[in-house]
Amino acid sequence: MRPFEYARAASTAEAVRDFGPGTMYLGGGTNLVDLMRLGVAEPERLVDVSRLPLDTIEPAGDRVRVGATVRNTDLAADPLIRSRYPMLARAVLTGASGQVRNVATVAGNLLQRTRCTYFQDVTRPCNKRRPGSGCPAIAGDHAGLAILGSSDACVATHPSDMAVALAALDAQVHVTGPGGDRIVPMPGLHRLPGEEPERDTVLSPGDLITAVELPPPPPGASLYRKVRERASFAFALVSIAAVLDVGRDGTVAGCRIALGGVAHVPWRAERAEQALIGGPATGEAFLQAAEAELEQARPLPRNAYKVPLARNLIVATLEELAP
Ligand SMILES: Cc1cc2nc3c(=O)[nH]c(=O)nc-3n(C[C@H](O)[C@H](O)[C@H](O)COP(=O)(O)OP(=O)(O)OC[C@H]3O[C@@H](n4cnc5c(N)ncnc54)[C@H](O)[C@@H]3O)c2cc1C
Ligand code: SF4
Repeated sequence: MRPFEYARAASTAEAVRDFGPGTMYLGGGTNLVDLMRLGVAEPERLVDVSRLPLDTIEPAGDRVRVGATVRNTDLAADPLIRSRYPMLARAVLTGASGQVRNVATVAGNLLQRTRCTYFQDVTRPCNKRRPGSGCPAIAGDHAGLAILGSSDACVATHPSDMAVALAALDAQVHVTGPGGDRIVPMPGLHRLPGEEPERDTVLSPGDLITAVELPPPPPGASLYRKVRERASFAFALVSIAAVLDVGRDGTVAGCRIALGGVAHVPWRAERAEQALIGGPATGEAFLQAAEAELEQARPLPRNAYKVPLARNLIVATLEELAP
């Protein structure tokens, strides 16, 4: 590992002021330190933001504000989150292990990097790690990678489970940085790879996430489900955060669907949502909605299995949520 300077920020203002070229913020370090060991990340200076006083979960009117340094374990165990946003608590609990969740922060989870094997191997080309060097995953090992929204430059997936639930909940990410304070909506924090796969998000250098704000929970029943290769300690092959609100007359009054493991972003399935709202809450309608969404899929030979997997997961989850 390359030598680096370490500083612990005493305030958000100090963290932003101390951010210069070669600097990275350090949350729990469960992703960044791994990448430093692998030589993928080589910061000259780490500004530790994990002990900033941003570790509370508080109601704010009919909304809830979650501080950026709240540990994943504390988020999933919080009574307010468990009662009002059970889908979010469940998504967090499907990620990593108890030990990792005890250390990992909310902001760090959202900004963790892809687990594409070539990205993590500095002996291989990778457009995300070294722009312009190529994407060996397209002709190589892409079995776990994207089927939606990918580009000729990158087919990586975003690994966070929490981000999928936050995208379905229309969460807002509070950011402070050299350009001042702003709010970034989810979905919208993460970006599709296009020609610049090195940029995972819309954040600029020095931008510090301070909180995630949750709007009032949408009406209806909600669920997070994750399909993975083994029962625990594995990233999603495909996951879903879904909310379904069915009226007394049996028609869909509201619907939110976000998918994980299928794209460079937590993928909000807007076509499926639009296909469902106002129509019947039946298995046939769920299937048609899933197919409308997945018409856009551009799978590669070894991840084509994700298309029927995502379709079946959407249908099964909506059937479980339907009254
Ligand atoms: C074995 C293993 C399995 C895992 N499985 C899963 C899984 O199934 N699902 C899942 O969702 N996750 C999984 N994870 C990922 C884990 O949840 C992340 O490593 C963790 O959430 C990252 O949080 P952190 O606070 O440690 O971030 P760090 O590693 O400290 O930082 C990650 C990134 O965020 C930046 N950062 C941190 N805080 C801020 C801030 N406040 N503002 C701006 N930038 C910031 C850092 O600069 C860095 O780029 C797994 C991890 C491991 C090690
Ligand atoms: S898919 Fe993206 S992260 Fe993986 S090798 Fe290609 S460019 Fe790199």
